[in-house]
Amino acid sequence: MIPPIASRFVAGESPAEALDHVHRVNQRDVNAIVNLLGEHYESRPPVRSDAAEYRSLAEDIATSNLAASLSVKPSQLGLDLGVDVFREELDDVVATAADHDVFVWIDMEDHTTTDPTLEAFEELATEYEHGVGVCVQANLKRTRDDVERLADVPGKIRFVKGAYDEPADVAYKDTDRVNREYERLLEYAFSEFDGGIAVGSHDPAMIERAIELHDEYGTDFEIQMLMGVREDAQYDLAEEYEVWQYAPYGDRWKSYFYRRAMERKENLRFALRAVLGR
Ligand code: FAD
Repeated sequence: MIPPIASRFVAGESPAEALDHVHRVNQRDVNAIVNLLGEHYESRPPVRSDAAEYRSLAEDIATSNLAASLSVKPSQLGLDLGVDVFREELDDVVATAADHDVFVWIDMEDHTTTDPTLEAFEELATEYEHGVGVCVQANLKRTRDDVERLADVPGKIRFVKGAYDEPADVAYKDTDRVNREYERLLEYAFSEFDGGIAVGSHDPAMIERAIELHDEYGTDFEIQMLMGVREDAQYDLAEEYEVWQYAPYGDRWKSYFYRRAMERKENLRFALRAVLGR
């Protein structure tokens, strides 16, 4: 069982708990992006097992009529075992999800995975129009070119600042520079895309900029934030905009929770309060 200290950031261990969480946020007009925690598998059985769980989640989301999509990690679906394995598993998940009208996001991992991830997105988004999205990272120097190339692909793009500690030859290391790149990417997307923009950020300045750009260009967009981070803002924003909450679940929750607790002092304070019972 997930201890109360972690349950702010993780939606449970089982699919049923995750879907209960989805139901709760849906009642407050927030949509959910369900992610089964898992990455960097070195053998096929856990890849097969997670892929099967995503397929069954897609069915359950459709049957329960929930406002939810899926988000998968390439290395969870076998990328470390080879591009063929990844494509076989991802294609199956996307095909089943499409049968149930459930959208699939492909998370972006470190820069060594960008090419196979974007190639998979381009092919699948073309095959299953409007059923697939991919994440791009503002800290990577290549991203502007990637986004220009993806402008005509009929899927969605989630813009994030980037969570991986990348080498300086491929990534901007300075926070202000990453923020500037993030804004420039939003400016490009809102002015050039027909829609399909997801702002994956908790940063009030970036969300405000996205809203300004939406007002200026009229381009549709959605806001995505993580479960447990600025949830009040999520519910407030949902009164006016489309908001999606990324809700991870599964028995591999410990390292995810540790990352969330350590990344900001607000989260750490919350975690300590929970431990100390104050
Ligand atoms: P930061 O730059 O970390 O912070 C900017 C400001 O936001 C802060 O000053 C504060 O005002 C506010 N803020 C941020 N965090 C908090 C908090 N915990 N509590 C209160 N205020 C806060 N990264 C990837 O590399 N690949 C992915 O596939 C990916 N998917 C993501 C999906 C979603 C839905 C989200 C939200 C993020 C995802 N990320 C992904 C992570 C992303 O790259 C960033 O590492 C992460 O979102 C932190 O950047 P930020 O823009 O939220 O804000």
